[in-house]
Parts: sequence; C-alpha cells; structure tokens
Amino acid sequence: MAINKTEKIWHNGKLINWDDATLHVMSHVVNYGSAVFEGVRCYARKDGAGIFRAAEHMQRLLDSSKIYRMELPFTRDELVRAMVEVVAANRIVPCYIRPIVLRGYGQIGVNPFNSPIDVYIVNYEWGKYLGSGKADEGVDVCVSSWNRLAPNTMPAMAKSGANYMNSQLIKMEAIVNGYVEGIALDVNGYVSEGSGENLFLVRNGTLLTAPLGNSVLPGITRDSVLQLARELGIPVVEQMIPREMLYISEEVFFTGTAAEITPIRSVDKIAVGDGKIGPVTKRLQKEFFAILQGAAPDRHHWFTPVPVQARQPVTV
Ligand code: PMP
Repeated sequence: MAINKTEKIWHNGKLINWDDATLHVMSHVVNYGSAVFEGVRCYARKDGAGIFRAAEHMQRLLDSSKIYRMELPFTRDELVRAMVEVVAANRIVPCYIRPIVLRGYGQIGVNPFNSPIDVYIVNYEWGKYLGSGKADEGVDVCVSSWNRLAPNTMPAMAKSGANYMNSQLIKMEAIVNGYVEGIALDVNGYVSEGSGENLFLVRNGTLLTAPLGNSVLPGITRDSVLQLARELGIPVVEQMIPREMLYISEEVFFTGTAAEITPIRSVDKIAVGDGKIGPVTKRLQKEFFAILQGAAPDRHHWFTPVPVQARQPVTV
C-alpha cells in the first residue's frame, strides 16, 4: 500500500510537518531495530469520528516500552490526546494511526541507553488489509515454515519493530507461494498467529484461540472478539491448538486492527468447512462491524471521539 502523505506528524509533544519527520541513518533504531509501535484505527462512525480502543493501544505501547526499558515522558492519557490531536489536524477519517517510540541518534553500539527516545504519531488513509476487500469472501493461507518467536528470545507480548523481521519472513514466504498470509506455529508446533493477526478457530461450535503463552501478541481485536463472543453466548476457550485442528475446524478467521475480522477459506489448500464464511464468523463480524460503523451503540466505550468532520463513510 502506498503511503499517502499528510500535513502533520506529532513528535515529542508538538505537531511538525510531514517532511520534517526524518531520521539520521546512524540512529540506533536503524541499526538495531530499537522501536516499539502501535497500529490503531479511527473510524467514521455514524455519530462522528472515533478512535477504536485508544487507551488499550496506548497501554500496550507503554507495556512494550517498559519491556525494552524505554522510559516515556508521556502518560497513557497524554498519548491518547496526542492521537486525537494529529487526526484532528490532518482531517483524514477513516484513517490508520501509527504511534512509534524509537531510540534515535545518540551513540552507536548495542547499548541503547545513551540514544534519545523519540515518540512519533503518524496517521494516514488506509483501507482493507487482506484479500479482495470483501469481508465475507475469505482468504487462502498456508502454515508457514517459519516459527513464531521462541519464548525468552524476542518478547512476543511487546509490539517491537524487530519482531516484524519474523513477520516479514512469514509474509514473504506466503506471498511467493501464492497465499495471502501465513499462519506461524510456535517453537513447539502449536498454532500461534499470522504475521500481523491473531487467529481464531471454531470447532464443534466452540471458539478457540491460542493463549498468550503461545507467542502471540495480545491483540486488541482479539480481546474485543472474545468479549463479543461471550456476550453472544458463544462458548470460548483459550487453549493450545495443534496444527491439524486448522484443517478440521468448521471455521477459521484472523483478527487484527488492519485485518478486522477476516475469514479464512483454506489452509494449505485444504478447504475450511465448506470454503465459505461460517455462521459464527458471520455473527461476530456483524456485531463488530455494527459497532465500528456506529449502527450499534458503543456499549463498551470503545471509542474516543475526534472533533473532526469525517470526509467519507466507512466501507465494510
Ligand atoms: N499479532 C501480530 C503479530 C500483529 O502484528 C497484530 C497487529 N497489531 C495482531 C496480532 C493483532 O493485534 P491488534 O488486534 O491489536 O491489532
């Protein structure tokens, strides 16, 4: 997806011009991948622009920073307000928001402590992530030959830029082999997640997803789907998932900020169920999209309003 330039980027508390948000090649982050980040969406809801689960995303950014001993001079609420500020300044709704915390230009060498911490928040236009853009069609995926991060190597609970080198291996292999996305197993061979999505299965009517111990990112969409499923009375279990369960489940789908809820119609060319979106996925999508669009009330207080006139409606 091409990047559509906007006017302003939030940097350490101030709005700067898009073209001024540059880095030196000797910045710590360029050499050692020292960054943590977030991916957030702002929706054009019926009653106005709203950032989805802004506080949870900023809490995860703070958690990722804490794991990497990066001290941020901003609180969670200040970061939420900063997202609102940059979206309002650029007047692009719906949009994707990308907060980044990085180790900048200071000293070279692995020790990161003497390189300054810079916080940026960028927002830009972004549409569908996976597949044709039709939320009910489903995508074809494979199981990756690459494993997800082993425990106690790269922390999977931190959303660090460096983790996405692993994601890139998974994604590239999938694309080269003609798939949209890859599902990675953890080092013990249990199902983990996609390169940028959590994974759910429906087996005998029960919704299953891998627990956080299987090297998955604690996805905010994952959490939202778990909440909605419980409210809808769908049985939910977080459990270790053997690979072969992917092939014999009634339904499989991805969740993520970018992917939202994306059904999977085949894994390794084996049809999931009858190869069409299943009833549980459909029900969850319907409920989730209604809330995102504003057709259903925001009963969970998932949205932070942005004082800006939405330029175009959400298309789902
Ligand atoms: N796993 C990985 C590796 C991801 O990159 C993402 C996207 N942030 C997810 C899961 C889904 O998380 P979320 O629902 O918070 O976007």
